[in-house]
Amino acid sequence: MPEEGEHMKSIAQKGLIKTSCLMCSLGCGMDVYLEDGRITKVEGMKEHPLNRGILCPKGEAALEYVYSPDRLKYPLIKKNGNWQRISWEEALDTIADKLTTIKETEGARSFATAIGMSVLLSGSITPALIRRFCYIYGSPNCFSVESMCYRCRIISYMLTFGRFRVADPRNSKCIFLWASNPMNSFPTLVEDIHQARKKGAKFIVIDPRRTPLAKEADIHVQPRPGSDSALLLGLMNVIISEGLYDKDFVNQWTFGFDQLAEHVKSYSPAEVEKLTWVSADTIREIARLYATVKPACIVQGTNALDQHSYGLQNSRAVAILQAITGNVDVAGGFIRAPRLRENIIEMPVRPEEKAIGQDRYPIFFGILKREFGEGQTMLLPETLLSGKPYPIKGMIIAGSNPLLTWPNSKKVEQALKKLDFLVVMDQFMSQTANLADIVLPAATFLEKTELCDYYSLWGLPWVMLRKKVISYGECLSDLEFWLKLGKKMGYEEYFPWRNVEQVIDYVLEPSGLTVKKLSEEKPSGFMSDPIQYGVTDFPTPSKKIELYSEVLAKQGQSPLPIFHEPPESPLGSPELFKEYPLILTTGARQLEFIHTQLRHIPSLKKRLSEPFAEINPKTAREYDLSDSEMAMVETKRGRIEIKVKVTEDILPGVISIPHGWAQANVNLLTDETPADPVIGYPSLKALLCRIEKKS
Ligand code: SF4
Repeated sequence: MPEEGEHMKSIAQKGLIKTSCLMCSLGCGMDVYLEDGRITKVEGMKEHPLNRGILCPKGEAALEYVYSPDRLKYPLIKKNGNWQRISWEEALDTIADKLTTIKETEGARSFATAIGMSVLLSGSITPALIRRFCYIYGSPNCFSVESMCYRCRIISYMLTFGRFRVADPRNSKCIFLWASNPMNSFPTLVEDIHQARKKGAKFIVIDPRRTPLAKEADIHVQPRPGSDSALLLGLMNVIISEGLYDKDFVNQWTFGFDQLAEHVKSYSPAEVEKLTWVSADTIREIARLYATVKPACIVQGTNALDQHSYGLQNSRAVAILQAITGNVDVAGGFIRAPRLRENIIEMPVRPEEKAIGQDRYPIFFGILKREFGEGQTMLLPETLLSGKPYPIKGMIIAGSNPLLTWPNSKKVEQALKKLDFLVVMDQFMSQTANLADIVLPAATFLEKTELCDYYSLWGLPWVMLRKKVISYGECLSDLEFWLKLGKKMGYEEYFPWRNVEQVIDYVLEPSGLTVKKLSEEKPSGFMSDPIQYGVTDFPTPSKKIELYSEVLAKQGQSPLPIFHEPPESPLGSPELFKEYPLILTTGARQLEFIHTQLRHIPSLKKRLSEPFAEINPKTAREYDLSDSEMAMVETKRGRIEIKVKVTEDILPGVISIPHGWAQANVNLLTDETPADPVIGYPSLKALLCRIEKKS
């Protein structure tokens, strides 16, 4: 059974425990009440600066999740098509034996890992431990959901500023909310925007959907899905041609302004109107507003600007707009939240070969001095099916349900079925877990200790400990599992920590903190360092903000942000458009769920029991569809049945379908082909489809 640190055992005896919610990735502060070893109540933590006492419906449903009768409680092995309970010892022995066989027969490169976000948001510790495990084993093939989630923005901002920056709407006078619906995806941001609005901030929403916040905006702009880069470049055109940019800031801190100014000349408002369906007058109006009301910031949706064939350029363009208006390192603009000083889990050895996709997308693998060290997951299904560049025979997938969450589900299923050996670690028996040979029960956030050092991603230099409050069945934290597997494989030398607390203490060492100190002296967390405003440095090759990116130029990529049509679009592929005359945008977040997770929770199911495809009344009339009627939606890849919701809140000619629903899996319609030429992200926000009444 799991080896627990002594300190965690004592914490679990107390009545009120301060921890951090992980029902989604935000990490709101949560007060947990314990009686006789059972959690009786959870509440929002009032002193936590992110959520200030509020929990969203997901957070409020934490106990339904943790105590769900559907939880996996023990390791399981599939024998003759049936699941049988086994001990952890047996599971670890079997996995270690299989990995040894794969290494001996196929070579270490034929083993891969893939991780999602749900189980694994332990700061950077778990992904780093997994990578360490793979490298010692000899495989370069670590994959994660970041092949299509969030890393695009990190890389774009690093290319531009040399470091990550984040929007600061709390202190802004002009907020652009671009392709984001925080009511569903980032509830705490809604209060930040409302507070800024009360202080007089202008508010512009750019989204093909008329979201609840769009209805409150001063201006709501609905561009054609897939045309964001064009709109961003059109805004730059107006700001530069009308001399509205911040000349002092541009002269002192940016590199490549002349090339940018020349480049955006071709994106006049009139040209951009044709590409985006946004009127030239509106483009001028919002450009002038954004450039003249300061401080201003653009808040991007989690992935809506990223999952495009030019996603990297979208985020580059956002960063550049911040820069040419001087809204960098000022309160209310883009800011840099300091991170705690920590030890990094280093890679003591390197595999001989490169990860799949590393050659093709080197910037995705690592940029400047930062090595992410992952292959591009979108290449994995094809690799599994074709055996090229070499076969992958065994995988461990943790906290991820690729059968529903990776694009092109049919292909993903065929690909995973080719594996000789698949282990899935999760909290529930998912569609992907059902394909596995071994399923491992993962601890929820209330059953494991983690360091929450990632609030700087949300602009808050907050640090706290997520605490193990209870044990459940034989569930293990993902971090504990990798420690144990490392030891089982004989890698003690590289996995010297006896338990999770020791790993966290090692990471915390430079900060002077320990697990004990964090839980006893700072149970609610603390502000690690104040945010430093004022320009400091930009560790790019030019030591300035790179409007023109030399790193991209050296890779043969466009050094300036560009627009090109999505792989499927009315203007870029007119022949296909004749056959599939509607634009499909996928993956809009729903408040009740996070990707495929939380689907077992009764209170959340009651709030939202089924998926629907949003269409405009005009589109509904054209296809003779009524509200709540079943329809077939089809792309080149497949078709699904889904109920339609007829609403004025979406552009005519556009269909929006959420992801994560097994009964209407939108990823049967999407394409996993890497679309972004720099980082290999897929195009999921602007595809072509058709719809018809279900006969
Ligand atoms: Fe938990 Fe909701 Fe906060 Fe996400 S937004 S961390 S689910 S309370």
